[in-house]
Amino acid sequence: MKLLTVNFLTCAVKTCKTSSESYPLHFRDAQLEQNPQTFNPLFIRNILSRLDWSALTTTANELGLTAMLPDHNPADDMMVDSEGATEEEKNRAKDNVISEEVLKKLHTFLVDTAVIEGKLVCGNCGFEYPIKEGVGNFLLPPHLV
Ligand SMILES: [Zn+2]
Repeated sequence: MKLLTVNFLTCAVKTCKTSSESYPLHFRDAQLEQNPQTFNPLFIRNILSRLDWSALTTTANELGLTAMLPDHNPADDMMVDSEGATEEEKNRAKDNVISEEVLKKLHTFLVDTAVIEGKLVCGNCGFEYPIKEGVGNFLLPPHLV
């Protein structure tokens, strides 16, 4: 499971949907693997604005990977302040500001780094979602659905 994935996951238990404790899910007994994928700078750049940086930082800290993650979202540096900027101008600003080096580092963290065995644990209800052979099982047992 790519580290990127966990940024888009919440606990499936109904009563957890409204709890701030249920996000992000917390890795436990995580076994990491570097699994190099083709570097796609455009993909990384586009996904940046959709990431929850504080959740990502939590994930990095829990896995002991804090050094791999910039301390803030590089997308925040690219804010175009002139209100009349077109989409195209904003996109160009992105191209200019985020260096390939930063994007590569993010690619390594978000896409190349995978958890192959372990659990994701909900901070609200404590439910443990197992991860086996890189695949997370997010099905709930019948009594929780
Ligand atoms: Zn939960």
